[in-house]
Amino acid sequence: MNTLENLITLLSRLPGVGKKSAVRMAYALLKGDDEYNKLLGESISELKDRIHKCTECGNYTEEELCGICSSPDRDSSQLCVVEASQDIMMIESTGDFKGLYFVLHGVLSPLDGVGPSELGFDRLMERIDTLGCEEIILATNPTLEGDSTALYIKHLLKERDLKVSRIASGLPVGGDMEYADKMSISRALKGRLEY
Ligand SMILES: [Zn+2]
Repeated sequence: MNTLENLITLLSRLPGVGKKSAVRMAYALLKGDDEYNKLLGESISELKDRIHKCTECGNYTEEELCGICSSPDRDSSQLCVVEASQDIMMIESTGDFKGLYFVLHGVLSPLDGVGPSELGFDRLMERIDTLGCEEIILATNPTLEGDSTALYIKHLLKERDLKVSRIASGLPVGGDMEYADKMSISRALKGRLEY
């Protein structure tokens, strides 16, 4: 396989990039500016060296603690549980939530071998107890896996005296929070229901 074919194959492994787009990207890089290609290559190779998971919430950060966990202005009585780090970015962009987060980095999916221990539910319970949270907002996506993950967490929390809520169905069913616009996320968060 030559260099160009190799790049096309690598690019087409990215989410949302089909063969056609991969070809377009590869040719654009080939014709493009050397400096841009160098910067792109460098930032890709530095990515995993520099960025790691926040030791408290699992959000991606370059520090030990992410900006949200280290901020004195956040309200530790509310904890929002999300599937992915980019969900935090979306919720933060609405400016409507002042609590803290916990990132699962996935959803329960027994067929893919993802069970409660893979998602760090022990750490989640520990974090809830340490912070002394009063409300847990389950903001996993409204998919089959997202719903069963939320239900499982609710079950784990049943011995604790906590308010457990689920974001309202402002998001398209089966859709990712990543693609929902700010307004629908804001509506989903404000219209959350006791779960
Ligand atoms: Zn954090």
